[in-house]
Amino acid sequence: MKETAQALKNLLSSPKNIVITTHRGPDGDAMGSSLGLCNLLQQIGHSVKVITPNEYADFLHWLPGNEDVIIYEGNEEEADAITANADLIFLLDFSHLSRIATFADAVKKSKATKVMIDHHQDPDREIAELIFSDTTACSTAQMVYEVMDAMEMTSYLNKEIAECLYVGIMTDTGSFKYASTTAKTHHIVAKLIAAGAENTKIHDLIYDNSSANRIKLLGYCLNEKLRLYPENNAAIISLTAEELTRFEFKKGDTEGFVNFALGIKGIKFAVFIAEKDGMVKLSLRSKGDFKVNEIANKYFKGGGHMNASGGISEVSVSETITKTEQIIKEYKTELTKSN
Ligand code: 5GP
Ligand code: MN
Repeated sequence: MKETAQALKNLLSSPKNIVITTHRGPDGDAMGSSLGLCNLLQQIGHSVKVITPNEYADFLHWLPGNEDVIIYEGNEEEADAITANADLIFLLDFSHLSRIATFADAVKKSKATKVMIDHHQDPDREIAELIFSDTTACSTAQMVYEVMDAMEMTSYLNKEIAECLYVGIMTDTGSFKYASTTAKTHHIVAKLIAAGAENTKIHDLIYDNSSANRIKLLGYCLNEKLRLYPENNAAIISLTAEELTRFEFKKGDTEGFVNFALGIKGIKFAVFIAEKDGMVKLSLRSKGDFKVNEIANKYFKGGGHMNASGGISEVSVSETITKTEQIIKEYKTELTKSN
């Protein structure tokens, strides 16, 4: 970390054109780490643009710096020109170019030096010259703080950066409850609060700011769409495009639904399946040492972390349910072993 941070500090010693990008379907950690880093780099004299592959949930739109984010889908020409002209490109919260979808080509073509800051397994080391990879880190936002610290730049920590990084850490740790939350995480969070992050306000803006439709959709999922497999300690919730339309679905509305299934006593493996943007997307969650990233990778072209992963399915929602039921049966031994 120290050596890579020194190399990065050297690169940042003269003004640069910088692009920061993050994974498709940006979540709190993707946006928090990107906008936090953007603010730091702007303060030290760089020209910085955050480019996301696609849109993200409304509950992240209050983040400081959000108004200048360029969404690649729909703004390809502008984003391609900025990317071609960049000296440095930061790749945040992902470790394979497939995660930035249609933006990948422009990033690949650009002669810019690439810097990865990420906490996912098995990073593709070919895609960046400087790599900060820590698969034990709870979030990329925590790593951005650590990189700042290693570059001796924490004096630039202001309320804006603190709130961005707080969002990243809070969302990727399930509000500080996942096993990845360590004493270090809490030490860093303490510094963020001391720097002005309003923790109660942030929690409220992210979690207690739902539309009535979202809450009704949640009720519908739990009441009518929850399939339980108690003999295998597993659960599935699924939604078709028609059902999402019925509840006036907006991006981000189903975030966290899978955790309700995982919150049922005895459930170790929960799957949320939804038909969105013409695709069938899966969110996989587990408790203990049941590795959902292996399942996401083996069956759903995806990946992620041991207890939280995602992927896509190329068949219909009902066929995806059948496939998931087969997987649940196949893993019965692991799902029912006592530990
Ligand atoms: P979510 O279920 O919230 O969409 O995603 C949970 C985690 O799974 C993300 O933080 C990310 O690490 C991973 N993930 C989600 N979707 C994909 C995907 O399509 N491909 C890969 N490789 N990882 C994914
Ligand atoms: Mn993350």
